[in-house]
Amino acid sequence: MTEKKNYGFTTTILHNDRQKGIEHGSLHKPVHTSVAFGYGDARQLASVFQGKEPGFRYGRQGNPTVSALEDKVNKMEQGVATLCFATGMGAIGAVFQALLRAGDHVVSSSFLFGNTNSLWQTVAGQGVAVDFVDATDVDYVAAAIQPNTRIVFVETIANPRTQVADLKRIGELCKERGILYIVDNTMTTPYLFQPKTVGAGLVINALTKSIGGHGNALGGSLTDTGAYDWTQFPNIFENYKKAAPAQWGITQIRAKGLRDFGASLGPEAAHHIAVGAETLALRMERTCANAKALAELLEADERVAAVYYPGLQSHPQYAIASALFRAHGSLLSFELKDGIDCFDFLNRLRLAIPASNLGDTRTLIIPVAHTIFYEMGAERRASMGIAESLIRVSVGIEDTADLLEDFSCALEAC
Ligand SMILES: *Cc1c(COP(=O)(O)O)cnc(C)c1O
Repeated sequence: MTEKKNYGFTTTILHNDRQKGIEHGSLHKPVHTSVAFGYGDARQLASVFQGKEPGFRYGRQGNPTVSALEDKVNKMEQGVATLCFATGMGAIGAVFQALLRAGDHVVSSSFLFGNTNSLWQTVAGQGVAVDFVDATDVDYVAAAIQPNTRIVFVETIANPRTQVADLKRIGELCKERGILYIVDNTMTTPYLFQPKTVGAGLVINALTKSIGGHGNALGGSLTDTGAYDWTQFPNIFENYKKAAPAQWGITQIRAKGLRDFGASLGPEAAHHIAVGAETLALRMERTCANAKALAELLEADERVAAVYYPGLQSHPQYAIASALFRAHGSLLSFELKDGIDCFDFLNRLRLAIPASNLGDTRTLIIPVAHTIFYEMGAERRASMGIAESLIRVSVGIEDTADLLEDFSCALEAC
């Protein structure tokens, strides 16, 4: 298959491995389990080590199977380079370990994945100051920026309350101030939205979620979109400034983040994720349609107090989400009216499974304050807009009628 630039999203992913030629005509990139890579000529080993020629050295820093997945994610995000990590948190943690130093300041959305919120507390203890702001309005972000602000960090659609960041205007602000803009694209995936289009310099994806899509492998990725000018970033080690500036960030993150902290993605997991990624677009079409139908059903039900889904016109960021995203995502959350016990309701569902993953093929449901957001305490939950009765639904690809019936039966019994 000859290289052609304008294939669609799914065609590109399906045929990407073959562009580089696969051993034995295999249609899948094989799972390479070797930790080390040997060279007939010792001088070649040295030049691979010195980055003078491409090649693999040691599994923690790169692997052919993982590299094939990196290439696919990079195409999905239209990036300059992508690195994979053992988990989504591995990617986020490595970025901050590699790029931040004591005395730096970060502006972060306060509407965050729980473990990212916890990570911010960790870096705060290491001398990095973090300010949390309501990122649905760029003015709050602008007001929090200081001379030592190195990073602005947001999620596209926040989990679990589905607030949508003011993505485009925050991108413009970061560009104007020369600040690195990092967007966690997990909830939208590159099929619904590419953060590069709003000026994000780095994009995070938890591959564990919709990209892998089947709840059978953990993984994370980080893409450098090429939108950020790394010569403006003060924390690049001299050592990594030898290459072209476009490579500085990814080179430092590969060395200081991936290599030194070691959260490397394994080849078996990379294979599972790569196979899952082939159907990302198909699954997203189905889950987004299911999520919208379920959100509408819940909103129309008198036993439901509130529904949060960016595809509902009642959602405060409906307009922004509709303008930026191809569809409104597979995640919704809702609150039942006072007097209805959320555990009783959950226990009446037959299909939706009480479990904590997202972006699975199966619909998963969880009482947020009692589980994933339990550790942070009631005060921080309240500041993030998370009611004690909030229920999060990660909508799967079940047949729509079955899914809707499951929820209406469980509500009827109320
Ligand atoms: C799940 C998730 C992560 C972390 O991914 P893991 O693979 O579980 O470490 C990060 N960000 C968001 C938005 C997530 O939903």
